[in-house]
Amino acid sequence: MFIPERIIFEKSALEYEMSQNIFNKFKGKADTEIIDSVSGRVKQYIPGDNLFSQYREGKKTLVIGTKKSLKFQSCKPSAHYQLPLVSGCMGQCEYCYLNTQLGDKPFVKIHANIDDILKQAQKYINERLPEITLFEGAATSDPVPVEPYTHSLKKAIEFFGKSEKSRFRFVTKYNDIDTLLNIQHNGHTEIRFSINTAFVINKYEHHTSSRNNRIEAGIKAAKAGYPTGFLIAPVFIYPNWKEDYHNLLLELGSKLPDNLSYPVTFEIISHRYTTIAKNRILEVFPDSDLPMNDEERKFKYGQFGYGKYVYPNENINEIKDFFTKELDGLYKNKKILYII
Ligand code: SF4
Repeated sequence: MFIPERIIFEKSALEYEMSQNIFNKFKGKADTEIIDSVSGRVKQYIPGDNLFSQYREGKKTLVIGTKKSLKFQSCKPSAHYQLPLVSGCMGQCEYCYLNTQLGDKPFVKIHANIDDILKQAQKYINERLPEITLFEGAATSDPVPVEPYTHSLKKAIEFFGKSEKSRFRFVTKYNDIDTLLNIQHNGHTEIRFSINTAFVINKYEHHTSSRNNRIEAGIKAAKAGYPTGFLIAPVFIYPNWKEDYHNLLLELGSKLPDNLSYPVTFEIISHRYTTIAKNRILEVFPDSDLPMNDEERKFKYGQFGYGKYVYPNENINEIKDFFTKELDGLYKNKKILYII
């Protein structure tokens, strides 16, 4: 659970019930500083005089504000729109895609005006009728660690559960989903769990849930009738990688119920990095031993004009063969969305 060291309330945020509940929960707690009615840049209240400490202080900061511009960002190709419930994440994964997106003090921000956000979602749904509109809840965050404070996922899932012409999805590396299990989702929300081997999680995914807890949460979501998916990303090649990934898939497969309402989906992404990401990672995690030796990788131009360092073809083919065989052998009711 996310216990922030400081909570910054933006001006007017306390007009909302969600903010008041958070304020009352933390009021007087010695370990959490409350900074109230802030207007202007919240970053000035977050300490740190170099990127290393700014990153860590940012990660321990919760900002409560409102989503003022109700224009949702598009979210191609995975959804039509981002649903802006939360931005940022308490996790400290060394290769997180957010490391280059959220600036030098990557605080977690929650939007207290959830009712306005869902009203706006309804407008977007109406605009696309009779087509179904898909919303992504984790485009710039992991929304699960703050769910005990916001209940925003619960509200969103119930909202989309009542809506025939919309769907919702989010991905998480956390397991605290119990409050989402017994609610009316009607199969309209897909929960994806980002899983990996214990070796990878312990080495690179700091302050996230363990391998076993994530597996357990995935099973719970599937048993609660949610369309459920597993994202294995990033896949690393290291001594015993095949044995570890085999055991991970074996354990997950043996625990998933046979009578799933929906095929379980898999997305497999091998490790890759850009030069910008590598430089940022090495500033924030100077002792990182992430495999980022350019000479051992293949440079591949991406669609947005910058290139990535991916594993060479022979490794990629080995990863593809391995996961295709494993998943085909271990899972009957499944869909492999991609292995890259
Ligand atoms: Fe980034 Fe996800 Fe790790 Fe959070 S849990 S730091 S969003 S990779």
